[in-house]
Amino acid sequence: MSAGARDVTSSPEPSVIQVRPGILDQMGSGVAAVSSPTGRGGVVIVTDETVGGLYADRVCASFVNQLAVSSVYRIPPGEGSKSLAQLSVIYDFFAAHRIARDGLIVALGGGVVSDLAGFAAATWMRGIPWVALPTTLEAQIDAGIGGKTAINIRGGKNLVGAFHRPRAVLIDPTCLRTLDPRDIRAGLAESIKHALITSEGFFAWHEQHVDAILALDEVTLVELIERNVRIKTAIVERDPFEQTGDRMTLNFGHTIGHAIEACADDYALRHGECVAMGMLAACRLSNAMGLLDRGVVDRLRSLLERFGLPTRLEQAIAFDRIMDAITRDKKARGKQVQWVLLEAIGQTHMSTEVDERAVREAYESLIHPT
Ligand code: NAD
Repeated sequence: MSAGARDVTSSPEPSVIQVRPGILDQMGSGVAAVSSPTGRGGVVIVTDETVGGLYADRVCASFVNQLAVSSVYRIPPGEGSKSLAQLSVIYDFFAAHRIARDGLIVALGGGVVSDLAGFAAATWMRGIPWVALPTTLEAQIDAGIGGKTAINIRGGKNLVGAFHRPRAVLIDPTCLRTLDPRDIRAGLAESIKHALITSEGFFAWHEQHVDAILALDEVTLVELIERNVRIKTAIVERDPFEQTGDRMTLNFGHTIGHAIEACADDYALRHGECVAMGMLAACRLSNAMGLLDRGVVDRLRSLLERFGLPTRLEQAIAFDRIMDAITRDKKARGKQVQWVLLEAIGQTHMSTEVDERAVREAYESLIHPT
């Protein structure tokens, strides 16, 4: 597929997204095709140690006779690398390799790598091109698409960042075979989210394909990724800089989910696992507010369970801490809490007027499910 070949930022160049098993070994020509004449100023592959160990050699080999890869920079895997300290070392690396304005940054890895390398590209010499080669399901269907790049600071996650769309996103679903099954499941939470906010048909498709998805059936995975790419690019194109509210719908399940993530022991829970619980709580909240049919709550819970995603919070976190995390996050961004609720599958409802008692009940239903 070549989806989303339209511009989603102010950049004049089109964005190309391709999903193809085996594309990993053709990355060089894929990147050269979309980056010419850039890359003359040096090509740096940014990856993490795990992904680099698995795929950097193959990707570098695919660049032979295309663009010359100047070097590969490996970060330690994990969220801790999305830091100012790591960014600073990357800039020094770019300087040492004389990466010029017509250089190119290639982000090979999950959402941590694409957020960090994308932000480095956005700010190096006031912005140079980059391409994403996403290797987690999360990054293939969400983090790698849409042009949001960021790092974390002590004051909050993703508080420093830029909109800087990659020239291309080249997606190889076969990379998912080496991914920890827990990370596959975590990525599926974002796919379910895309379905819940846009399409009853896509939600039902998940219900019908649980076994094939979990078995990483190639045809099914390509369809899953392509459908997600279409959904995300359509939303991003309507609201590239998060101004009209369209893009806000992507935060469905994230208000409580992010708060759980922020309060949980150091990265004990995956982002997608927190989103799964956050979506369930948001659906229960929508139901309690008279917006959403109870049947949708039950369908979501059942689907999450079939995918092995958590529907209850094993380590109880006091509600006051959760509420504090929700409001602190928004205050840090100078915003009110904007709840994304659901009226039906495919139909969101935005509200800033949500009773705190109802939020408490929805959250506590994750600790004591009814
Ligand atoms: P991640 O990048 O930390 O990757 C998870 C783990 O999987 C890492 O240990 C990594 O080394 C390993 N890994 C990656 N690909 C692999 C492969 N093919 N085989 C084996 N191991 C592999 O996590 P993630 O879930 O991809 O991304 C999470 C990040 O994405 C968060 O920082 C989040 O804020 C960000 N994010 C950004 C956006 C956005 O729009 N920019 C959207 C959603 C999430």
